[in-house]
Amino acid sequence: MTTELRSISYGGGVQSTALLVLAAQGRIDFPTFLMANVGDDSENPATLRYVNEYARPYAAEHGIELAVLDRVKRDGTTETLMGRLTRAGSRSLPIPVRMSNGAPGTRNCTADFKIKVIAKELKRRGATAARPATIGIGISLDEIHRANNRKIEPHEEIVYPLLDLGLRRTDCARIIRDAGLPVPPKSSCFFCPFHRPETWHDMRREQPAEFEKACQLEDLLNRRRDELGKDHVYLTRFARPLREAIPDGVDLLPMFDEADGACDSGYCFT
Ligand code: SF4
Repeated sequence: MTTELRSISYGGGVQSTALLVLAAQGRIDFPTFLMANVGDDSENPATLRYVNEYARPYAAEHGIELAVLDRVKRDGTTETLMGRLTRAGSRSLPIPVRMSNGAPGTRNCTADFKIKVIAKELKRRGATAARPATIGIGISLDEIHRANNRKIEPHEEIVYPLLDLGLRRTDCARIIRDAGLPVPPKSSCFFCPFHRPETWHDMRREQPAEFEKACQLEDLLNRRRDELGKDHVYLTRFARPLREAIPDGVDLLPMFDEADGACDSGYCFT
């Protein structure tokens, strides 16, 4: 069956920005890019800056629609992930916080703030089970294990254009640079418990305000856990508060540049 709605799930990171360039060059057929914004107070601010300064103008220049979507609740108000986490009296723990054994807990942040937001928009634009939308996800060859890893909504058909083209993350960076754009930073919530230790170290050094906000969030969650008589949870796998787990001024040897493994392409990976 032919489908008319063709959209990329745009996460604002390297892979999905490469898809934007490929669409602009006519190498893939996706006129629409949808970005589910977890919140201006939640997404990596460097990603939001990149989207506004580079991705939006580039998309507009090439006749591609890049729509940034907020999560809108039934009462019409916008909800951010940070807002949900910090709401007074909230017991909600939607992000994959680490238990004392380091394992991530279950999460519904990706589903609520990304997958459902995009699914709702596709429905609004007319996608149905009989006429599903095609949604392209920016998974590159080096991350092939993440493909086919999510529940598919009945009105969506998932495709992986980077896999079809045999492109790796390094190819994506080259495609972006060759188009005259800077390579974007990793996109994710700045407090995501899936961050690798190197990401936390980089954040402490380069984005101290976000690092401090992440520490404060972890403190808040644990004050609540204390009130409920529950054990502490952490944003790292080290079973220690973030401030101690990621000491100031310590340089880690750079590891190979792999995404952190959460939501870089705006969908749900483990
Ligand atoms: S980046 Fe992390 S915290 Fe944010 S929505 Fe994805 S899994 Fe949840």
